Amino acid sequence: MYGWIGKYAVVNLSRGNVSIKDCRLSELKAFIGGRGIGVKVCFENIPRGVNALSEDNIVVFSSGPVNGTMVPMSGKCIASSKSPLTGGIFDTCVSGKHSFYMKSCGFDFVIVKGRASKPVEIVVREGEIEIVESNCWGLDTESTIERLIECYGDCLVACIGPAGENLVRFASVVCEDGGVFGRCGLGAILGAKNVKAIVFTHGDCEVEVYDTEALYDVVENMMLRISWSPALGKVLPRFGTSCLFSVVNFHEALPARNFREKALGLGDKIGGDVYNRKFVRGRFSCFMCPVACKRVVEVDGRLIKGPEFESIWAIGCNCDVHDLGKLIEVNDKCLRLGLDTISFGGVIACFIEMVERGIVSESVPDILDLVEMIAYRRGIGDKLAEGSLRFARSYGAEEYAMQSKGLELPAYDPREAMGQALAYATSNRGGCHLRAYMVANEILGIPTLIDRKSILGKADLVMVHENSSAFVDSMVMCRFSMLEFDDLVYARALSAVTGIEYGRKDVQLIGERIWNLERLFNVREGIIGDSLPKRILKVVPLEAMLRDYYEARGWNGDGIPKVETLRRLGLDEYFKG
Ligand code: SF4
Repeated sequence: MYGWIGKYAVVNLSRGNVSIKDCRLSELKAFIGGRGIGVKVCFENIPRGVNALSEDNIVVFSSGPVNGTMVPMSGKCIASSKSPLTGGIFDTCVSGKHSFYMKSCGFDFVIVKGRASKPVEIVVREGEIEIVESNCWGLDTESTIERLIECYGDCLVACIGPAGENLVRFASVVCEDGGVFGRCGLGAILGAKNVKAIVFTHGDCEVEVYDTEALYDVVENMMLRISWSPALGKVLPRFGTSCLFSVVNFHEALPARNFREKALGLGDKIGGDVYNRKFVRGRFSCFMCPVACKRVVEVDGRLIKGPEFESIWAIGCNCDVHDLGKLIEVNDKCLRLGLDTISFGGVIACFIEMVERGIVSESVPDILDLVEMIAYRRGIGDKLAEGSLRFARSYGAEEYAMQSKGLELPAYDPREAMGQALAYATSNRGGCHLRAYMVANEILGIPTLIDRKSILGKADLVMVHENSSAFVDSMVMCRFSMLEFDDLVYARALSAVTGIEYGRKDVQLIGERIWNLERLFNVREGIIGDSLPKRILKVVPLEAMLRDYYEARGWNGDGIPKVETLRRLGLDEYFKG
Protein backbone atom coordinates (compact mmCIF):
# COMPACT_ATOMS: atom_id res chain seq x y z
CA MET A 1 0.00 0.00 0.00
CA TYR A 2 1.09 3.57 -0.61
CA GLY A 3 0.42 6.21 2.06
CA TRP A 4 -1.12 3.75 4.46
CA ILE A 5 0.95 1.16 6.31
CA GLY A 6 -1.81 -1.43 5.94
CA LYS A 7 -2.02 -2.67 9.53
CA TYR A 8 -3.87 -1.74 12.70
CA ALA A 9 -3.82 -3.00 16.27
CA VAL A 10 -6.59 -3.86 18.72
CA VAL A 11 -5.64 -3.50 22.38
CA ASN A 12 -8.07 -5.43 24.57
CA LEU A 13 -7.53 -4.19 28.12
CA SER A 14 -10.05 -6.58 29.72
CA ARG A 15 -8.28 -9.61 28.29
CA GLY A 16 -4.82 -8.07 28.49
CA ASN A 17 -3.98 -8.96 24.89
CA VAL A 18 -3.20 -7.23 21.61
CA SER A 19 -3.99 -8.39 18.09
CA ILE A 20 -2.57 -7.00 14.88
CA LYS A 21 -4.71 -7.03 11.76
CA ASP A 22 -4.56 -6.07 8.09
CA CYS A 23 -6.46 -3.02 6.84
CA ARG A 24 -8.73 -3.37 3.84
CA LEU A 25 -7.77 -1.05 1.01
CA SER A 26 -11.41 -0.60 -0.05
CA GLU A 27 -12.25 0.75 3.43
CA LEU A 28 -9.22 3.05 3.55
CA LYS A 29 -10.08 4.34 0.10
CA ALA A 30 -13.65 5.12 1.16
CA PHE A 31 -12.92 6.59 4.63
CA ILE A 32 -9.24 7.70 4.20
CA GLY A 33 -8.05 7.66 7.84
CA GLY A 34 -8.31 9.84 10.97
CA ARG A 35 -11.88 10.96 11.55
CA GLY A 36 -13.32 8.85 8.70
CA ILE A 37 -11.81 5.58 9.89
CA GLY A 38 -12.62 6.61 13.46
CA VAL A 39 -16.38 6.89 12.90
CA LYS A 40 -16.45 3.69 10.85
CA VAL A 41 -14.69 1.68 13.57
CA CYS A 42 -16.78 3.28 16.33
CA PHE A 43 -20.04 2.59 14.50
CA GLU A 44 -19.11 -1.05 14.00
CA ASN A 45 -17.72 -1.69 17.49
CA ILE A 46 -19.68 0.39 19.98
CA PRO A 47 -23.03 -1.26 20.74
CA ARG A 48 -26.08 1.00 20.81
CA GLY A 49 -26.81 2.68 24.15
CA VAL A 50 -23.45 1.91 25.74
CA ASN A 51 -22.40 4.10 28.67
CA ALA A 52 -19.45 6.11 27.31
CA LEU A 53 -17.61 5.50 30.58
CA SER A 54 -18.09 1.74 30.54
CA GLU A 55 -15.68 -0.89 29.27
CA ASP A 56 -17.87 -1.36 26.18
CA ASN A 57 -16.85 2.00 24.76
CA ILE A 58 -13.77 2.06 22.53
CA VAL A 59 -11.20 4.67 21.50
CA VAL A 60 -9.57 4.81 18.07
CA PHE A 61 -6.25 6.65 17.68
CA SER A 62 -5.76 7.15 13.97
CA SER A 63 -3.35 8.62 11.47
CA GLY A 64 -3.95 9.58 7.86
CA PRO A 65 -2.21 8.60 4.64
CA VAL A 66 -0.22 11.85 4.34
CA ASN A 67 1.22 11.68 7.88
CA GLY A 68 4.88 10.74 7.66
CA THR A 69 5.27 12.18 4.14
CA MET A 70 6.54 15.63 3.16
CA VAL A 71 3.02 17.13 3.01
CA PRO A 72 3.08 20.34 5.10
CA MET A 73 0.69 20.97 8.00
CA SER A 74 0.33 17.24 8.57
CA GLY A 75 1.62 17.02 12.17
CA LYS A 76 -1.70 15.93 13.65
CA CYS A 77 -3.36 12.81 15.11
CA ILE A 78 -7.05 12.04 15.67
CA ALA A 79 -8.85 10.15 18.44
CA SER A 80 -12.51 9.06 18.07
CA SER A 81 -15.02 7.60 20.51
CA LYS A 82 -18.47 8.03 22.05
CA SER A 83 -18.52 11.14 24.25
CA PRO A 84 -19.47 11.07 27.95
CA LEU A 85 -20.50 14.72 27.57
CA THR A 86 -22.78 14.49 24.51
CA GLY A 87 -23.56 10.77 24.28
CA GLY A 88 -22.74 11.01 20.58
CA ILE A 89 -19.82 10.36 18.26
CA PHE A 90 -16.81 12.65 18.43
CA ASP A 91 -13.27 12.99 17.24
CA THR A 92 -10.60 15.23 18.68
CA CYS A 93 -7.31 16.28 17.12
CA VAL A 94 -3.88 16.83 18.66
CA SER A 95 -0.78 18.55 17.29
CA GLY A 96 2.44 16.57 17.24
CA LYS A 97 4.29 13.63 15.74
CA HIS A 98 1.96 10.95 17.14
CA SER A 99 0.68 9.81 13.74
CA PHE A 100 4.21 9.75 12.37
CA TYR A 101 5.46 7.64 15.30
CA MET A 102 2.42 5.33 15.16
CA LYS A 103 3.06 4.67 11.47
CA SER A 104 6.80 4.26 12.08
CA CYS A 105 5.80 1.45 14.47
CA GLY A 106 3.76 -0.17 11.70
CA PHE A 107 0.17 0.89 12.52
CA ASP A 108 -2.29 3.15 10.73
CA PHE A 109 -4.56 3.12 13.75
CA VAL A 110 -4.84 1.64 17.23
CA ILE A 111 -8.16 0.59 18.78
CA VAL A 112 -8.39 0.50 22.58
CA LYS A 113 -11.15 -1.74 23.99
CA GLY A 114 -12.27 -2.96 27.42
CA ARG A 115 -11.02 -1.89 30.83
CA ALA A 116 -7.79 -2.75 32.65
CA SER A 117 -8.10 -4.07 36.21
CA LYS A 118 -5.29 -1.72 37.36
CA PRO A 119 -3.92 1.58 36.00
CA VAL A 120 -1.81 0.95 32.90
CA GLU A 121 0.15 2.62 30.14
CA ILE A 122 -0.21 1.42 26.56
CA VAL A 123 3.22 1.38 24.93
CA VAL A 124 3.30 1.31 21.12
CA ARG A 125 6.54 -0.19 19.75
CA GLU A 126 7.55 -1.33 16.30
CA GLY A 127 5.32 -4.28 15.42
CA GLU A 128 4.02 -4.72 18.97
CA ILE A 129 2.04 -3.04 21.71
CA GLU A 130 2.55 -3.63 25.40
CA ILE A 131 0.15 -3.04 28.28
CA VAL A 132 2.31 -1.97 31.23
CA GLU A 133 1.24 -1.39 34.83
CA SER A 134 1.41 2.36 35.54
CA ASN A 135 2.97 4.01 38.57
CA CYS A 136 1.86 7.47 37.41
CA TRP A 137 -1.77 7.33 38.61
CA GLY A 138 -2.46 10.41 40.73
CA LEU A 139 0.20 12.54 39.03
CA ASP A 140 -0.62 15.62 37.00
CA THR A 141 0.07 15.59 33.26
CA GLU A 142 3.38 17.45 33.52
CA SER A 143 4.87 15.00 36.03
CA THR A 144 3.44 12.01 34.13
CA ILE A 145 5.03 13.13 30.88
CA GLU A 146 8.38 13.79 32.58
CA ARG A 147 8.39 10.37 34.24
CA LEU A 148 7.38 8.47 31.10
CA ILE A 149 9.92 10.22 28.88
CA GLU A 150 12.58 9.38 31.46
CA CYS A 151 11.41 5.77 31.37
CA TYR A 152 10.91 5.24 27.62
CA GLY A 153 13.42 7.68 26.08
CA ASP A 154 12.60 8.85 22.54
CA CYS A 155 8.82 8.70 22.76
CA LEU A 156 5.64 10.73 22.64
CA VAL A 157 3.22 10.68 25.54
CA ALA A 158 -0.52 11.31 25.56
CA CYS A 159 -1.75 11.16 29.15
CA ILE A 160 -4.64 12.02 31.43
CA GLY A 161 -4.44 14.09 34.59
CA PRO A 162 -6.48 13.88 37.81
CA ALA A 163 -9.56 15.14 35.90
CA GLY A 164 -9.52 12.08 33.65
CA GLU A 165 -8.91 9.77 36.60
CA ASN A 166 -11.93 11.30 38.35
CA LEU A 167 -14.10 10.93 35.23
CA VAL A 168 -14.74 14.63 34.71
CA ARG A 169 -16.90 14.60 31.60
CA PHE A 170 -14.79 17.23 29.83
CA ALA A 171 -11.38 15.85 30.82
CA SER A 172 -8.70 16.15 28.15
CA VAL A 173 -5.63 14.15 27.14
CA VAL A 174 -2.40 16.15 27.22
CA CYS A 175 0.80 15.57 25.26
CA GLU A 176 4.46 16.42 25.78
CA ASP A 177 4.62 19.73 23.90
CA GLY A 178 1.35 21.08 25.29
CA GLY A 179 -0.74 19.52 22.52
CA VAL A 180 -4.18 18.47 23.74
CA PHE A 181 -6.90 16.06 22.65
CA GLY A 182 -9.26 18.66 24.07
CA ARG A 183 -12.93 18.38 23.43
CA CYS A 184 -15.69 15.92 24.36
CA GLY A 185 -14.08 14.10 27.30
CA LEU A 186 -11.50 11.69 25.87
CA GLY A 187 -9.64 11.96 29.20
CA ALA A 188 -12.63 10.59 31.13
CA ILE A 189 -13.00 7.67 28.71
CA LEU A 190 -9.34 6.69 29.19
CA GLY A 191 -9.71 7.22 32.95
CA ALA A 192 -12.69 4.85 32.98
CA LYS A 193 -10.53 2.30 31.16
CA ASN A 194 -7.74 2.74 33.74
CA VAL A 195 -5.40 4.01 31.03
CA LYS A 196 -3.06 6.70 32.36
CA ALA A 197 -1.16 7.18 29.12
CA ILE A 198 -0.43 6.04 25.59
CA VAL A 199 3.27 6.07 24.80
CA PHE A 200 4.30 6.12 21.14
CA THR A 201 7.91 5.07 20.56
CA HIS A 202 9.75 5.54 17.28
CA GLY A 203 10.10 2.63 14.86
CA ASP A 204 11.69 2.18 11.45
CA CYS A 205 8.67 1.62 9.19
CA GLU A 206 8.53 4.15 6.39
CA VAL A 207 5.56 5.48 4.48
CA GLU A 208 5.81 4.60 0.81
CA VAL A 209 4.74 7.34 -1.59
CA TYR A 210 3.28 6.32 -4.96
CA ASP A 211 4.57 9.23 -7.05
CA THR A 212 7.35 11.24 -5.40
CA GLU A 213 7.76 13.62 -8.34
CA ALA A 214 4.06 14.47 -8.36
CA LEU A 215 4.13 14.94 -4.60
CA TYR A 216 7.11 17.34 -4.90
CA ASP A 217 5.04 19.44 -7.30
CA VAL A 218 2.02 19.50 -5.00
CA VAL A 219 4.11 20.27 -1.92
CA GLU A 220 5.98 23.05 -3.72
CA ASN A 221 2.64 24.57 -4.64
CA MET A 222 1.36 24.20 -1.07
CA MET A 223 4.47 25.86 0.38
CA LEU A 224 4.17 28.76 -2.06
CA ARG A 225 0.54 29.23 -1.19
CA ILE A 226 1.32 29.14 2.53
CA SER A 227 3.96 31.83 2.11
CA TRP A 228 1.65 34.04 0.02
CA SER A 229 -1.37 33.54 2.22
CA PRO A 230 -2.20 36.58 4.40
CA ALA A 231 -3.49 34.26 7.13
CA LEU A 232 -0.91 31.43 7.03
CA GLY A 233 2.09 33.36 5.77
CA LYS A 234 1.69 36.64 7.63
CA VAL A 235 -0.84 36.99 10.43
CA LEU A 236 -0.68 33.61 12.21
CA PRO A 237 3.15 33.40 12.22
CA ARG A 238 3.46 36.99 13.42
CA PHE A 239 0.68 37.23 16.00
CA GLY A 240 -0.47 33.66 16.72
CA THR A 241 -4.13 32.74 17.13
CA SER A 242 -4.65 35.54 19.67
CA CYS A 243 -4.87 37.92 16.69
CA LEU A 244 -8.43 36.65 16.26
CA PHE A 245 -9.45 38.50 19.42
CA SER A 246 -9.50 41.96 17.85
CA VAL A 247 -10.87 40.83 14.46
CA VAL A 248 -13.80 38.95 15.97
CA ASN A 249 -14.38 41.71 18.53
CA PHE A 250 -14.41 44.32 15.76
CA HIS A 251 -17.38 42.47 14.25
CA GLU A 252 -19.01 42.44 17.71
CA ALA A 253 -18.99 38.65 17.56
CA LEU A 254 -16.99 37.98 20.72
CA PRO A 255 -19.44 37.17 23.52
CA ALA A 256 -18.76 37.56 27.24
CA ARG A 257 -20.22 36.35 30.55
CA ASN A 258 -22.07 33.31 29.29
CA PHE A 259 -23.19 35.03 26.08
CA ARG A 260 -25.01 37.71 28.10
CA GLU A 261 -22.74 40.53 26.95
CA LYS A 262 -20.16 41.42 24.33
CA ALA A 263 -16.43 41.56 25.00
CA LEU A 264 -16.09 45.01 23.43
CA GLY A 265 -14.09 46.68 26.21
CA LEU A 266 -11.79 43.74 26.89
CA GLY A 267 -9.29 44.10 24.04
CA ASP A 268 -6.99 46.40 26.05
CA LYS A 269 -6.90 43.97 28.95
CA ILE A 270 -6.72 40.49 27.44
CA GLY A 271 -6.56 41.03 23.66
CA GLY A 272 -3.87 39.81 21.29
CA ASP A 273 -1.78 43.01 21.42
CA VAL A 274 -1.28 43.02 25.17
CA TYR A 275 -0.78 39.22 25.19
CA ASN A 276 1.96 39.43 22.57
CA ARG A 277 3.61 42.48 24.09
CA LYS A 278 3.65 41.48 27.73
CA PHE A 279 3.80 37.69 27.82
CA VAL A 280 4.90 36.09 24.56
CA ARG A 281 8.59 35.15 24.50
CA GLY A 282 8.75 32.90 21.45
CA ARG A 283 6.85 30.87 18.90
CA PHE A 284 6.93 27.30 17.74
CA SER A 285 5.35 25.04 15.18
CA CYS A 286 3.74 21.67 15.00
CA PHE A 287 5.74 18.95 13.25
CA MET A 288 5.85 19.50 9.45
CA CYS A 289 4.45 23.03 9.55
CA PRO A 290 6.14 26.26 8.46
CA VAL A 291 3.44 28.49 10.01
CA ALA A 292 4.50 28.38 13.68
CA CYS A 293 1.33 29.83 15.20
CA LYS A 294 2.02 28.42 18.70
CA ARG A 295 3.30 30.69 21.45
CA VAL A 296 5.67 30.38 24.42
CA VAL A 297 4.84 32.74 27.27
CA GLU A 298 6.65 33.76 30.43
CA VAL A 299 4.86 33.86 33.77
CA ASP A 300 6.76 34.30 37.05
CA GLY A 301 10.02 33.47 35.32
CA ARG A 302 8.62 30.19 33.92
CA LEU A 303 8.41 29.57 30.18
CA ILE A 304 5.27 27.62 29.29
CA LYS A 305 3.01 27.02 26.30
CA GLY A 306 0.69 30.01 25.97
CA PRO A 307 -3.08 29.77 25.66
CA GLU A 308 -4.65 29.82 22.21
CA PHE A 309 -7.34 32.34 21.29
CA GLU A 310 -10.18 29.98 22.25
CA SER A 311 -8.77 29.50 25.75
CA ILE A 312 -8.14 33.23 26.20
CA TRP A 313 -11.78 33.80 25.32
CA ALA A 314 -13.17 30.91 27.40
CA ILE A 315 -11.34 31.88 30.59
CA GLY A 316 -11.02 35.63 30.01
CA CYS A 317 -14.25 36.81 28.37
CA ASN A 318 -16.61 34.04 29.40
CA CYS A 319 -15.45 33.76 33.03
CA ASP A 320 -14.59 37.42 33.62
CA VAL A 321 -10.86 36.94 34.22
CA HIS A 322 -9.37 40.23 33.02
CA ASP A 323 -5.86 39.75 34.37
CA LEU A 324 -3.84 38.06 31.61
CA GLY A 325 -1.24 36.71 34.03
CA LYS A 326 -3.95 34.96 36.03
CA LEU A 327 -5.69 33.80 32.86
CA ILE A 328 -2.47 32.13 31.70
CA GLU A 329 -2.13 30.49 35.12
CA VAL A 330 -5.68 29.10 34.90
CA ASN A 331 -4.97 27.78 31.40
CA ASP A 332 -1.77 26.14 32.61
CA LYS A 333 -3.54 24.56 35.58
CA CYS A 334 -6.26 23.17 33.27
CA LEU A 335 -3.46 21.62 31.18
CA ARG A 336 -1.73 20.12 34.19
CA LEU A 337 -4.90 18.67 35.70
CA GLY A 338 -6.26 17.65 32.28
CA LEU A 339 -9.35 19.78 31.61
CA ASP A 340 -10.66 21.08 28.28
CA THR A 341 -10.44 24.88 28.59
CA ILE A 342 -13.39 25.70 26.30
CA SER A 343 -15.79 23.48 28.23
CA PHE A 344 -14.25 24.59 31.54
CA GLY A 345 -14.99 28.23 30.61
CA GLY A 346 -18.53 27.35 29.51
CA VAL A 347 -19.27 25.46 32.72
CA ILE A 348 -17.92 28.22 34.98
CA ALA A 349 -19.76 30.96 33.03
CA CYS A 350 -23.00 29.00 33.40
CA PHE A 351 -22.34 28.52 37.14
CA ILE A 352 -21.61 32.24 37.68
CA GLU A 353 -24.83 33.26 35.90
CA MET A 354 -26.90 30.81 37.93
CA VAL A 355 -25.35 32.11 41.17
CA GLU A 356 -26.05 35.71 40.11
CA ARG A 357 -29.66 34.80 39.33
CA GLY A 358 -30.06 33.15 42.73
CA ILE A 359 -30.68 29.70 41.20
CA VAL A 360 -27.59 28.28 42.88
CA SER A 361 -27.12 29.38 46.47
CA GLU A 362 -23.33 29.16 46.64
CA SER A 363 -20.62 31.76 46.51
CA VAL A 364 -18.30 31.56 43.51
CA PRO A 365 -14.82 30.37 44.59
CA ASP A 366 -11.66 31.78 43.02
CA ILE A 367 -11.30 30.40 39.51
CA LEU A 368 -7.92 28.80 40.25
CA ASP A 369 -9.58 26.89 43.10
CA LEU A 370 -12.42 25.92 40.77
CA VAL A 371 -9.98 24.18 38.42
CA GLU A 372 -8.91 21.92 41.28
CA MET A 373 -12.41 21.47 42.69
CA ILE A 374 -13.62 20.21 39.31
CA ALA A 375 -10.59 18.03 38.57
CA TYR A 376 -10.83 16.34 41.98
CA ARG A 377 -14.65 16.57 42.15
CA ARG A 378 -14.59 18.48 45.44
CA GLY A 379 -17.61 20.44 46.73
CA ILE A 380 -19.58 22.15 43.96
CA GLY A 381 -16.81 20.96 41.60
CA ASP A 382 -18.39 17.50 41.66
CA LYS A 383 -21.56 18.84 40.03
CA LEU A 384 -19.67 21.13 37.65
CA ALA A 385 -17.58 18.16 36.51
CA GLU A 386 -20.72 16.86 34.79
CA GLY A 387 -20.62 19.69 32.21
CA SER A 388 -22.86 22.74 31.87
CA LEU A 389 -25.96 20.98 30.48
CA ARG A 390 -26.19 18.35 33.22
CA PHE A 391 -25.29 20.97 35.84
CA ALA A 392 -27.97 23.47 34.73
CA ARG A 393 -30.53 20.71 34.22
CA SER A 394 -30.06 19.49 37.78
CA TYR A 395 -31.44 22.90 38.87
CA GLY A 396 -34.19 22.90 36.22
CA ALA A 397 -32.37 25.73 34.44
CA GLU A 398 -31.16 24.15 31.19
CA GLU A 399 -31.48 27.44 29.30
CA TYR A 400 -28.38 28.84 31.03
CA ALA A 401 -26.11 26.18 29.56
CA MET A 402 -24.64 27.66 26.38
CA GLN A 403 -24.15 24.43 24.49
CA SER A 404 -25.22 22.39 21.52
CA LYS A 405 -25.85 18.65 22.03
CA GLY A 406 -24.20 19.04 25.45
CA LEU A 407 -20.88 20.47 24.23
CA GLU A 408 -20.12 24.01 25.40
CA LEU A 409 -20.05 26.66 22.64
CA PRO A 410 -16.72 28.24 21.65
CA ALA A 411 -15.77 31.90 21.13
CA TYR A 412 -17.83 33.06 18.16
CA ASP A 413 -21.27 34.51 18.91
CA PRO A 414 -23.76 32.67 16.67
CA ARG A 415 -26.15 35.64 16.85
CA GLU A 416 -23.63 37.63 14.81
CA ALA A 417 -22.97 35.02 12.11
CA MET A 418 -25.89 32.96 10.83
CA GLY A 419 -23.75 30.39 9.03
CA GLN A 420 -21.73 29.75 12.18
CA ALA A 421 -25.00 29.41 14.12
CA LEU A 422 -26.19 26.72 11.70
CA ALA A 423 -22.80 25.01 11.91
CA TYR A 424 -22.94 24.94 15.75
CA ALA A 425 -26.43 23.45 15.62
CA THR A 426 -25.80 20.77 12.99
CA SER A 427 -22.38 19.70 14.26
CA ASN A 428 -22.48 16.00 15.07
CA ARG A 429 -20.09 16.41 18.00
CA GLY A 430 -21.99 19.38 19.47
CA GLY A 431 -21.04 23.05 19.91
CA CYS A 432 -17.87 23.24 17.86
CA HIS A 433 -16.42 25.89 15.54
CA LEU A 434 -14.27 23.43 13.63
CA ARG A 435 -16.92 21.26 11.99
CA ALA A 436 -17.52 24.13 9.57
CA TYR A 437 -15.44 27.24 10.22
CA MET A 438 -17.94 29.72 8.80
CA VAL A 439 -16.04 32.45 10.64
CA ALA A 440 -13.63 32.37 7.68
CA ASN A 441 -16.31 33.61 5.27
CA GLU A 442 -18.47 35.56 7.66
CA ILE A 443 -15.86 37.41 9.73
CA LEU A 444 -12.35 36.96 8.34
CA GLY A 445 -13.35 37.45 4.71
CA ILE A 446 -11.59 34.27 3.53
CA PRO A 447 -11.87 33.78 0.60
CA THR A 448 -14.35 36.71 0.46
CA LEU A 449 -16.48 38.42 3.06
CA ILE A 450 -20.14 37.46 2.91
CA ASP A 451 -23.14 38.95 4.71
CA ARG A 452 -22.88 37.33 8.12
CA LYS A 453 -26.39 38.35 9.19
CA SER A 454 -28.10 36.87 6.15
CA ILE A 455 -29.39 33.30 6.09
CA LEU A 456 -29.46 33.22 2.30
CA GLY A 457 -27.39 30.37 0.87
CA LYS A 458 -25.94 29.49 4.27
CA ALA A 459 -27.33 25.93 4.30
CA ASP A 460 -25.40 24.93 1.17
CA LEU A 461 -22.26 26.72 2.27
CA VAL A 462 -22.28 25.08 5.70
CA MET A 463 -22.80 21.67 4.12
CA VAL A 464 -19.84 22.13 1.75
CA HIS A 465 -17.62 23.33 4.62
CA GLU A 466 -18.69 20.37 6.77
CA ASN A 467 -17.88 17.90 4.00
CA SER A 468 -14.48 19.45 3.25
CA SER A 469 -13.63 19.59 6.95
CA ALA A 470 -14.51 15.93 7.45
CA PHE A 471 -12.21 15.06 4.55
CA VAL A 472 -9.28 17.16 5.86
CA ASP A 473 -9.71 15.61 9.34
CA SER A 474 -9.55 12.21 7.66
CA MET A 475 -6.33 13.09 5.84
CA VAL A 476 -5.28 14.24 9.33
CA MET A 477 -4.06 17.70 8.43
CA CYS A 478 -4.25 21.00 10.30
CA ARG A 479 -7.60 22.71 9.84
CA PHE A 480 -5.88 26.09 9.44
CA SER A 481 -4.71 24.76 6.07
CA MET A 482 -8.29 25.30 4.86
CA LEU A 483 -7.73 29.05 5.15
CA GLU A 484 -5.67 28.69 1.97
CA PHE A 485 -6.13 25.29 0.30
CA ASP A 486 -9.23 24.25 -1.62
CA ASP A 487 -10.55 20.71 -2.11
CA LEU A 488 -8.44 20.18 -5.22
CA VAL A 489 -5.16 20.72 -3.35
CA TYR A 490 -6.02 17.99 -0.84
CA ALA A 491 -7.18 15.66 -3.62
CA ARG A 492 -3.92 16.13 -5.55
CA ALA A 493 -1.77 15.51 -2.47
CA LEU A 494 -3.73 12.38 -1.60
CA SER A 495 -3.56 11.05 -5.16
CA ALA A 496 0.22 11.54 -5.32
CA VAL A 497 0.72 9.79 -1.98
CA THR A 498 -1.66 6.85 -2.45
CA GLY A 499 -1.72 6.34 -6.23
CA ILE A 500 -5.52 6.41 -6.09
CA GLU A 501 -7.13 9.08 -8.22
CA TYR A 502 -9.08 11.57 -6.09
CA GLY A 503 -10.72 14.70 -7.48
CA ARG A 504 -12.69 17.65 -6.16
CA LYS A 505 -15.95 15.66 -6.27
CA ASP A 506 -14.42 12.80 -4.28
CA VAL A 507 -13.47 15.19 -1.49
CA GLN A 508 -17.09 16.29 -1.14
CA LEU A 509 -18.48 12.77 -1.55
CA ILE A 510 -16.16 11.19 1.03
CA GLY A 511 -16.70 14.09 3.44
CA GLU A 512 -20.45 13.68 3.00
CA ARG A 513 -20.18 9.93 3.63
CA ILE A 514 -18.32 10.54 6.90
CA TRP A 515 -20.76 13.25 7.96
CA ASN A 516 -23.75 10.97 7.32
CA LEU A 517 -22.22 8.04 9.19
CA GLU A 518 -21.59 10.32 12.18
CA ARG A 519 -25.21 11.41 11.98
CA LEU A 520 -26.35 7.77 11.83
CA PHE A 521 -24.28 6.98 14.93
CA ASN A 522 -26.04 9.78 16.81
CA VAL A 523 -29.48 8.77 15.55
CA ARG A 524 -28.81 5.22 16.75
CA GLU A 525 -28.05 6.75 20.18
CA GLY A 526 -31.37 8.63 20.14
CA ILE A 527 -29.82 12.03 19.43
CA ILE A 528 -32.38 13.43 16.99
CA GLY A 529 -32.59 17.00 15.72
CA ASP A 530 -30.40 20.07 16.00
CA SER A 531 -30.84 23.09 18.22
CA LEU A 532 -29.23 25.97 20.09
CA PRO A 533 -29.81 27.57 23.51
CA LYS A 534 -32.97 29.68 23.95
CA ARG A 535 -30.89 32.85 24.32
CA ILE A 536 -29.46 32.30 20.86
CA LEU A 537 -32.75 31.26 19.27
CA LYS A 538 -34.28 34.63 20.16
CA VAL A 539 -32.08 36.08 17.40
CA VAL A 540 -31.18 33.21 15.06
CA PRO A 541 -33.91 31.92 12.66
CA LEU A 542 -32.61 28.38 12.98
CA GLU A 543 -35.76 26.56 11.84
CA ALA A 544 -35.67 28.21 8.42
CA MET A 545 -31.99 27.43 7.94
CA LEU A 546 -32.47 23.84 9.13
CA ARG A 547 -35.24 23.27 6.58
CA ASP A 548 -32.90 24.26 3.74
CA TYR A 549 -30.02 22.34 5.27
CA TYR A 550 -31.92 19.05 5.72
CA GLU A 551 -33.17 19.29 2.18
CA ALA A 552 -29.68 19.97 0.81
CA ARG A 553 -28.36 16.99 2.77
CA GLY A 554 -31.10 14.63 1.61
CA TRP A 555 -32.38 14.16 5.16
CA ASN A 556 -35.94 14.07 6.47
CA GLY A 557 -37.54 16.84 8.56
CA ASP A 558 -36.05 15.41 11.78
CA GLY A 559 -32.52 15.60 10.45
CA ILE A 560 -32.23 11.86 9.73
CA PRO A 561 -30.58 10.71 6.48
CA LYS A 562 -33.03 9.26 3.95
CA VAL A 563 -32.44 5.74 2.66
CA GLU A 564 -31.69 6.96 -0.86
CA THR A 565 -29.05 9.35 0.50
CA LEU A 566 -27.34 6.55 2.39
CA ARG A 567 -27.49 4.32 -0.66
CA ARG A 568 -25.87 7.01 -2.82
CA LEU A 569 -23.07 7.31 -0.26
CA GLY A 570 -22.43 3.57 -0.09
CA LEU A 571 -23.68 3.36 3.50
CA ASP A 572 -26.33 0.68 2.82
CA GLU A 573 -24.86 -1.79 5.29
CA TYR A 574 -25.20 0.71 8.14
CA PHE A 575 -28.88 1.46 7.73
CA LYS A 576 -29.70 -2.22 7.19
CA GLY A 577 -28.11 -2.89 10.57
S1 SF4 B 1 -0.88 26.25 11.54
FE1 SF4 B 1 -0.41 26.27 13.72
S2 SF4 B 1 -1.76 24.65 14.57
FE2 SF4 B 1 -1.66 24.32 12.36
S3 SF4 B 1 -0.01 22.84 12.06
FE3 SF4 B 1 0.87 24.90 11.83
S4 SF4 B 1 1.68 25.45 13.84
FE4 SF4 B 1 0.25 23.72 14.12
